[in-house]
Amino acid sequence: MLKKLVAANWKMYKVQIDVSDFFGKWNRLETPKEEIAFFPQDPLIPLAKSLLRPGEKVGGQNCSERKEGAFTGDTSPYLLKNVGCEYVLIGHSERRHVFGEKNEVMGPKLKNAMEAGLRPVYCVGEKLEEREAGKTIEVVFAQLEALNGLSATGYDIAYEPVWAIGTGKVAKPEDASLVHGKIKEWLEEKGLGEDARVLYGGSVKPDNATELLSSSGIDGLLVGGASLDPESFHKIATAV
Ligand code: PEP
Repeated sequence: MLKKLVAANWKMYKVQIDVSDFFGKWNRLETPKEEIAFFPQDPLIPLAKSLLRPGEKVGGQNCSERKEGAFTGDTSPYLLKNVGCEYVLIGHSERRHVFGEKNEVMGPKLKNAMEAGLRPVYCVGEKLEEREAGKTIEVVFAQLEALNGLSATGYDIAYEPVWAIGTGKVAKPEDASLVHGKIKEWLEEKGLGEDARVLYGGSVKPDNATELLSSSGIDGLLVGGASLDPESFHKIATAV
């Protein structure tokens, strides 16, 4: 049984001095007992990696479905692995809905990332209008189809309702638990995700982290805005 994973998605924030400042403060705080992973912008990965404490991990925010070649602006998962990543986010809602990445590209990305030796955190979640139309599970299951054909182990899932990301609107723990339970049932039926943790993401803050992290089926958290500040992220990472 893997530890809970508490992951910091720094999105397109921070420059080098901010990363040094963050770890200067973070490393003076008690080491959390949960597994911790940081997802900085790609050029900041080696610096972040050099400042991590033992057991803490670093990951990329996205990667290419291709290994190498004339693909200007894309990042190979083999490079992420080469600079010290253990994780990569795939299918974050901002990739899907701001950059228009289609679900069809997620399977090849997941496969490529795993072949490169990374552990993907595959992000799924419904938009507000889909939730209101009662389509949450249908949408999430359709996104999970990208996992078909992968091995049974070696990746995690993040359930991130799109309407909760960066909006301050957090899913009720019981609603998140219900979706997490359905995701786990889907994985079990397909013989997939045998060691997958299902993380919750979407406006996680120090004041809601304890309830979320101790709710049934929630095996970790993916934290955006509240992970930028070391004290705030530490409160979340040590919430249970
Ligand atoms: C995220 O970026 O995955 C996220 C959940 O962001 P926030 O915590 O800011 O809603």
